[in-house]
Amino acid sequence: MEKKYNKQNNDITVTIIGGGLSGISAAINLMNKGFKINLIEKRPYLGGRTFSFTEKVTQDQVDNGQHLFMGCFKNFINLLKSLSVYDKVYIQKNLRSEILSEGKIGILKSSPYLGKFHMLPSLLKYPHLNFKDKFRILYGMIKADLVNLESDNAIRLDKLTFEKWLKNNYQNKNTIKHIWNLIILPTLNDDISNVSAYMGLMVIKNSILAKPKESSLGFSKFGLSQLLDKPVQNFIKESKGEIFLNKTVKSLNFKNNKLENIKISKDIVIKSDFYIFAIPFNELTNLFTKNILNENNLNTISNLSFSPIIAIHLWFDKIIMGQEFLALLESPLQWVFNRNKIEDKSNLTNQHLCISISGASDLINLSKNELIKLSLKEIRKHFPVANSSKLIQSIVIKNSNATIRHLPNSYSYRPKNKTSINNLYLAGDWTKTGWPSTMEGAVKSGIDCSSELIKNLSQ
Ligand SMILES: Cc1cc2nc3c(=O)[nH]c(=O)nc-3n(C[C@H](O)[C@H](O)[C@H](O)COP(=O)(O)OP(=O)(O)OC[C@H]3O[C@@H](n4cnc5c(N)ncnc54)[C@H](O)[C@@H]3O)c2cc1C
Repeated sequence: MEKKYNKQNNDITVTIIGGGLSGISAAINLMNKGFKINLIEKRPYLGGRTFSFTEKVTQDQVDNGQHLFMGCFKNFINLLKSLSVYDKVYIQKNLRSEILSEGKIGILKSSPYLGKFHMLPSLLKYPHLNFKDKFRILYGMIKADLVNLESDNAIRLDKLTFEKWLKNNYQNKNTIKHIWNLIILPTLNDDISNVSAYMGLMVIKNSILAKPKESSLGFSKFGLSQLLDKPVQNFIKESKGEIFLNKTVKSLNFKNNKLENIKISKDIVIKSDFYIFAIPFNELTNLFTKNILNENNLNTISNLSFSPIIAIHLWFDKIIMGQEFLALLESPLQWVFNRNKIEDKSNLTNQHLCISISGASDLINLSKNELIKLSLKEIRKHFPVANSSKLIQSIVIKNSNATIRHLPNSYSYRPKNKTSINNLYLAGDWTKTGWPSTMEGAVKSGIDCSSELIKNLSQ
């Protein structure tokens, strides 16, 4: 007989495969509602694509790549609060970002109390655009604000590139470079000419066109694993959940349109009432046979693809950067983050910088030495004091599968959380969350899929 959900007397077990943000948030949501959880993760730690490690020479905690969140990342923020680690992150009171272009610094910031027009005062003073282009931006923002992403528009906008939509709405090369792509490249991890208008508009509407607080930027003051790995492991253990680290699913046993059990090693077979696969889409296509994918309309997943991010960490013997972070519009380095400031280590006399290169497909095949040489040259060009300082240490982290690409049509390829296999659900930043492939998208997918599981059980 099918089990029914009863919070007081819940004997339903859910096995979650994948311990990234999506699996973690599904696990926490379900445990809070009384479910029993098994969490299976192939790596020796939880956190997935958000992790950090100790760098050998400096002994600093180093993230796999600089991760930023925004005030609009409601589910991610709630997750941090429920893990009691919200005090380990910092979020700006109001958005403030400096942008270096042709030797001049421009500042984009949010002015509270102006509602949707909170960016307007800084836009009027922004030195990288002439008056006519500022008017173009205003026009484009109003047009973006008027788009309804819930309606049939979604399908039409998913087919179009955001660049095309912008050009249809009076934008030119200059406004695209100095404003639109400045926001889109780091948030969608791809150049604006590649991403769909649907995802581009989603980002603009939910961040800078939302209330001022939603566009503030946040960072972890500690290595990402300190936010997620141990705090989540403790939470799960205290709630009597089971964690299996260093374990991958070896085989799946389906029967009568149900997943009966999964084998995670020679002698461990796990049987539970429900299964949530919270693993990247390419891992899922490796695990499921073509037949299972086809029969359950999951074959569109194979049309998805990844976009890389390169993180370069440099340590200098002198302080060379004052800002918390800076966008370099004419440099392949894109964004430079001052780790001293982010980690509240302003008393240091040496400098740890983290460079984040999004949509890095043109650079991903360069060797690590070539990438360090390139970044050093660019840093010395943009921060003259670096010419008289010594590079103490450098590391490069190439994240080839950093996020999914939000190419035209890609939203239609992203599956919903409930599959047509009775007891099998999907989570991950690549599922149909309404969000791009981000920490918020991942956490939301975990909440959506576990909430849907509960809803279906309660019916
Ligand atoms: C360098 C970098 C920078 C980024 N910057 C930002 C940013 O600034 N802001 C932002 O919001 N997002 C950013 N992202 C994206 C963000 O990290 C991801 O969207 C998010 O972490 C994805 O979480 P997930 O749970 O969907 O997937 P994952 O984190 O990939 O989790 C999936 C987990 O499943 C495990 N797994 C896979 N196969 C199996 C198997 N067969 N059995 C068991 N376990 C398995 C994996 O080991 C992994 O732990 C960045 C990503 C990278 C790489």
